[in-house]
Amino acid sequence: MKAIVLFGSPGSGKGTQAKLLTECLGIPHVSTGEMLREAVRSGRGVTPKTAAKMQAGILVKDEVVEALVEDRLSRPDAANGFVLDGYPRTLAQAEHLTRWLEARATCEVVIHLQVDYNVIIARLTGRRECPRCGTPYNVLLRPPKVDELCDLDGEKLVRRDDDNEDVIRARLDAYERQTRPVLEYLRTKGERVIAVDASNDPPEAVYQKIRRALEN
Ligand code: ADP
Repeated sequence: MKAIVLFGSPGSGKGTQAKLLTECLGIPHVSTGEMLREAVRSGRGVTPKTAAKMQAGILVKDEVVEALVEDRLSRPDAANGFVLDGYPRTLAQAEHLTRWLEARATCEVVIHLQVDYNVIIARLTGRRECPRCGTPYNVLLRPPKVDELCDLDGEKLVRRDDDNEDVIRARLDAYERQTRPVLEYLRTKGERVIAVDASNDPPEAVYQKIRRALEN
């Protein structure tokens, strides 16, 4: 079983790399952010308090995400492995995951996507997405051919609710205070942590670096 953990600040490209890994390795992309947004959209499985925390860029309760992840990882399509994106994000979550993996005699590989602060800000403030097909864009760094419209289906691009300045600041703050220490924890536990410079290269080049690191 391949357990790949993509680790990095908001805007480090975890989602993009997870999609590429999923396509090539044929294992599912497990994104806690996506699962939570879907739960909020469908109105099932999360309380209004959880939705409000997400809107504010604050981490939601460990038990909420742990339950979502456990449920997702137990499905048959994750039997041969998965790519975790946005989990674990606190020490308690990291301990929870370690226990889950140990019980299944599985090791994890942690890919740490390192990105300069200024690049992170440009990526988050410029980020847009096609609401129909999910194609990601960045109006500052990777704009669509026609202003604010999806290249593939012409749909008007949207900005995620939490991609505005105040909320971005809160998300980066949560990362520094609660998530960054997780990396040290995983290292001390003896997990393989591979740092990948993901600041300037296009996604495909970052992806090649990850593949090379995974093959070694
Ligand atoms: P980001 O771009 O900030 O990494 P995500 O899409 O991963 O965004 O997550 C969006 C929001 O969902 C977070 O700001 C947080 O409120 C919540 N969230 C996602 N993953 C977790 C997690 N592992 N633990 C707690 N909250 C989470």
